[in-house]
Amino acid sequence: MMNDNAQNLRQSDLAHYMHPFTDTEALGKEGGARIITRAEGAHIWDISGNKILDGMAGLWCVNIGYGRKELADAAARQMNTLPYYNSFFKTATVPSIELAEQLAARTPAGLNHVFYANSGSEANDTIVRMVRYYWELEGEAQRQIIIGRNHGYHGSTSVTASLSGPHMHGQGGVPLPGFSHIAAPYLFGADTELDAEAFGIQAAQALEERILELGADKVAAFIGEPVQGSGGMIVPPASYWGKIQRICKKYGVLLIADEVITGFGRTGKWFASELYDIKPDLMTLAKGLSSGYLPISAVIVGDRVANTIIHKGSEFVHGFTYSGHPVSCAVALENIRIIADEGLVENAATVGDYLQTRLRDLKDHPLVGEVRGIGLLGAIELVQSKSPRRFFETKGEVGTRCRDHCFANSLVMRAVRDTMIISPPLMFSKAHVDELLEKARKALDSTWADLC
Ligand code: PLP
Repeated sequence: MMNDNAQNLRQSDLAHYMHPFTDTEALGKEGGARIITRAEGAHIWDISGNKILDGMAGLWCVNIGYGRKELADAAARQMNTLPYYNSFFKTATVPSIELAEQLAARTPAGLNHVFYANSGSEANDTIVRMVRYYWELEGEAQRQIIIGRNHGYHGSTSVTASLSGPHMHGQGGVPLPGFSHIAAPYLFGADTELDAEAFGIQAAQALEERILELGADKVAAFIGEPVQGSGGMIVPPASYWGKIQRICKKYGVLLIADEVITGFGRTGKWFASELYDIKPDLMTLAKGLSSGYLPISAVIVGDRVANTIIHKGSEFVHGFTYSGHPVSCAVALENIRIIADEGLVENAATVGDYLQTRLRDLKDHPLVGEVRGIGLLGAIELVQSKSPRRFFETKGEVGTRCRDHCFANSLVMRAVRDTMIISPPLMFSKAHVDELLEKARKALDSTWADLC
């Protein structure tokens, strides 16, 4: 009965459901989608009853873990009180105000204003309009270009795919004009003799070179994820962000920290900006803001930009029907309460240290060229040869194979090219880390056996 049902659902899925980031024809040949039916803590269950360890917290978002009734209750309470009202035209709701106050208090000093959207993409799209509007108001309307980085990911709308690295360009008229990209601080991927710190400085220096090439009077902002996530989990050398900030300051370029992944504890700090002492002008938040229980995102706007828009501007002609949705805000408030009360940021730091140590145990594996990470973010780079370091020629094939072996071993790890990514819920325990590493090693062994 269950199997018939699963089969019917898979057929229906293939016939009607266009998934994001999916080759539907290939999915059909593989027999259709894995259908997830329930979840609890750090585990998910598929329709066949398999219990799977979620090493990715959904899509880097379920920070508090699954099954927290408090969030369902908060949503039900708010739905029963006021299921919807908007924030347009001089109105607000109680949860949207309370959440804005919390976000202003928790994010680094100077970030005191909140603009809501529904996804990381929408929030970054908002930022692009906002910074260009800021420069118009400051009498420098020619400052239009926003500089991002290779392997950066900021979303999938036409604007945010343009903002993202070249791996997101090429389909559907993207990139749009007005965006430029510099190399990422990706030491393992670089052909260099430099040590990490010198490499960090060199990678940051590329920003100054690009600003001068474009003309400083044309550059509106620089955007970066403090630790690059879905472009391959790139942890910058310690020297990197300080140098980037000095360059932004020198040329008056606004600095945007995209903390969609790194926000809300993932690196062992509430925000990775604290970790690297980044003082952004604007910050993007989503994912961990509600632990993915409901869609919500926020742009946290620093005083410099907010004061110009509020005092020099008129109406900012921008917003979404669901900006500041009261139910999403109520759920986000409860999520933040749980993160704070249960010490999940501290847990991410402690269990994160354990994860980083245990990851190093994998370095003896013939497929593993490097492990890296910070807090509860981890990456395992698979290589064809360790010394000299040689990547696989057909990028992504071995990573995909390894990801499939992970699934077969009841573990979710994501593959970005041939880099295996780990980003589990922040309520992960050391026992969860042990379970993850044991399953990961089995998947690596099976992948290796395929290649031999
Ligand atoms: N920014 C970063 C750093 C992300 O990782 C993502 C999504 O993975 C986004 C923005 C886009 O967020 P969304 O998928 O909610 O539009």
